[in-house]
Amino acid sequence: MMAASGKKVWMDGRLVDFADAKVHVLTHTLHYGVGVFEGIRAYPTRGGPAIFRLKEHVERLITSARLYHMPLPWDAEAIGRAILETQAANGVLPSYIRPLVYRGEPALGVKNSTGKVSLAIAAIPAKKYLGEGSEAGVRAKISPLRKPRSDALPSFAKACGNYTNSYLAGLDAQHDGYDEAILLDAAGNLAEGTGENIFLVRGEKLYTPGLESDILLGITRDTVMRLAGDLGFEVVEKALSPNELLTADEAFFSGTYAELAPIREVGGYRVGSETPGPVTRQIMAAFEKAVRGEDARYASWLSKVPTLAVPSPRAARR
Ligand code: PMP
Repeated sequence: MMAASGKKVWMDGRLVDFADAKVHVLTHTLHYGVGVFEGIRAYPTRGGPAIFRLKEHVERLITSARLYHMPLPWDAEAIGRAILETQAANGVLPSYIRPLVYRGEPALGVKNSTGKVSLAIAAIPAKKYLGEGSEAGVRAKISPLRKPRSDALPSFAKACGNYTNSYLAGLDAQHDGYDEAILLDAAGNLAEGTGENIFLVRGEKLYTPGLESDILLGITRDTVMRLAGDLGFEVVEKALSPNELLTADEAFFSGTYAELAPIREVGGYRVGSETPGPVTRQIMAAFEKAVRGEDARYASWLSKVPTLAVPSPRAARR
């Protein structure tokens, strides 16, 4: 996807050089996938650099950590501040910010839940995730791999281990020449992409799977629901069959990294007649305005990134 690069990484309260942001090879999280993380974006806006829906991302990180018995020694406010500080230290825009909660001390044994809980935050340049697909439409396939049921792996936690499933599904799709996989839940209904939620459009209504389809409750999904409602569209959360996707007027993915990406094709079937379709286009335009701070109704979704006080050369010499 992307070779990561940046200037500084925040590690347990300290900004360290990117090349020094290292963990021990026996870190518990590396072996068992017991870690939780977030994916957040910062955008250039009229009012300066800003992070989109920071509060919701921090809340989800804390919920995920709680579910995995990883007590964080920082509260929501301190984590939010650390994320803003990391963005300020790296400066690049648009950026993708990746906070990771992990147990970094060398310790083996899957039941280990006593090791020190650490937080690392990186901010790297954000690129278009689904490549050309973002504009021309994504070519997706229904994955032969199902989503694990939430009674095995809770989908509403953004846990590292959940992504072994996304990895296998994504590679299978890529191998077959598609941009992205769409995973079904155990009952055979639509769940989500490897890192995105999915929306269908039929007439003036939007449809999206709910938590019972073992999805991650995406923050972009929530953004789309609000924007679509404000544009006058009804949004329905329900179980959706693959056939409903194939016969939808329009379909699109939503996710922090993918943003909004119209789906053009599913396993050789064309979805709708236009990509993006007219409803998707309206929602994409509203989304773009919201993230760029061009619509005052959504101003509270943006957290301004502070300017780091850079010591003057003279002050630095003292
Ligand atoms: N589902 C999965 C599996 C994801 O990894 C993501 C990306 N975080 C999403 C959905 C979309 O969530 P969000 O809009 O919060 O990025």
